[in-house]
Amino acid sequence: MKHRVVVLGAGFGGLELTTLLSDALGDSIDVLLIDKADCFVFGFSKLDVMFWRQPPAAVQHPYSAIVKPGVRVLKAVVREIDPAGKRVVTDAGTFEADVLVVALGADYDHAATPGLVEEGTEFYSVPGAFALRDVLPRFERGPVIVGVTGKSFKCPPAPSEAALLVHDFLEERGRRESAEIALVMPFGTPIPPSPETSQAILAAFEERGIRFVKDNLVKALEPGRKVAVLSDGSELPYSLFLGIPVHRVPQVVVESGLASHPYDWVPVNKQTLETKYPGVYAVGDVNGVGTPKAGVFAEGAARVVAESIIAQIRGLTSPAVYLGQGACYVEFGHGQVGRVDVDFLSGPKPSGTFREPSEMLVREKSVFGSSRLERWFGGVPQRK
Ligand SMILES: Cc1cc2nc3c(=O)[nH]c(=O)nc-3n(C[C@H](O)[C@H](O)[C@H](O)COP(=O)(O)OP(=O)(O)OC[C@H]3O[C@@H](n4cnc5c(N)ncnc54)[C@H](O)[C@@H]3O)c2cc1C
Repeated sequence: MKHRVVVLGAGFGGLELTTLLSDALGDSIDVLLIDKADCFVFGFSKLDVMFWRQPPAAVQHPYSAIVKPGVRVLKAVVREIDPAGKRVVTDAGTFEADVLVVALGADYDHAATPGLVEEGTEFYSVPGAFALRDVLPRFERGPVIVGVTGKSFKCPPAPSEAALLVHDFLEERGRRESAEIALVMPFGTPIPPSPETSQAILAAFEERGIRFVKDNLVKALEPGRKVAVLSDGSELPYSLFLGIPVHRVPQVVVESGLASHPYDWVPVNKQTLETKYPGVYAVGDVNGVGTPKAGVFAEGAARVVAESIIAQIRGLTSPAVYLGQGACYVEFGHGQVGRVDVDFLSGPKPSGTFREPSEMLVREKSVFGSSRLERWFGGVPQRK
């Protein structure tokens, strides 16, 4: 009997894990990769589409292009997870596993912020970002708010990137003079583990006249009055709101008992990413390991889990432990990208080092994306 690995979610974590298992074990393993979507979109591509840097078709990479030894890809919605029995019910059948990996990411709870559903402008989901592509060219004047609505959110640099990119977008169209841009964030600085990166971002904000509203969340919107209510009780008017919705654990994961409630990410062993159920792992944004919710961290976690599965199958002891390290590229606008390398778990507290924005890092970020597409899909597949 082949070892059966069922991977739930074909995002950064699921794709990396599946690729590593196939590369190491080929046809001797049976990997089933399940996702409800029919294509993968990088998180950073949402900004590219919304700000007209890429057309939507160029950033949607169909799962049908994945052809790997030992791997089956199934388009299906995961309805139930039984971690004790390592059994999964989907709308395309029920599957049993020897090893189960939950990589379902973070969901959004739009309704948790009164007024956000009515206002309708968020850029964290694929439909939200794609819809903003048509909204932005119609914007003419007034206050723009990039607003974070919950404390735990994906890719901590992304709200700052959106503020810098909306500046460029308006400047290029001769509308920057008639707009004020504010960024509302729950931190004291844009990237708390890296003071240097934060300083560089704050300097870029200052240069461009972007207001940084620190230690605050957008608690509610009043679309009728076009006002955002902040957690400190103050109000900010807006003409255009670019929202980061409240993040939550996917409901199917809460119902499985792997997480105790919608805002409590799946607890795991910090070194192995194994949940309290032996042979059941949680990889990426869905877990509560304490690293930021970002693709690079999901990928690092997938590597540790892959090594552990490969070692188990070969009867060896797993050498890998999760270190919580990753490098994030930061869009600074004006065609430049910086980089922050962060280390969350190996020292007494999280730390980060910064590389100045440059065109060289623009190319490095592009290779980061294309190299993943090459390894995961065997090329750069695009939706027809
Ligand atoms: C605007 C923005 C910019 C970003 N920029 C970066 C960046 O520059 N660098 C970086 O590293 N990260 C970035 N991120 C974060 C990154 O996209 C995520 O952290 C990363 O995708 C998490 O990987 P994951 O595998 O945990 O989950 P995901 O990639 O979210 O994958 C989860 C998968 O599970 C599937 N799924 C969910 N529920 C079900 C279900 N019930 N049934 C079946 N399938 C299901 C989904 O369809 C999805 O494909 C950005 C995010 C955003 C929003």
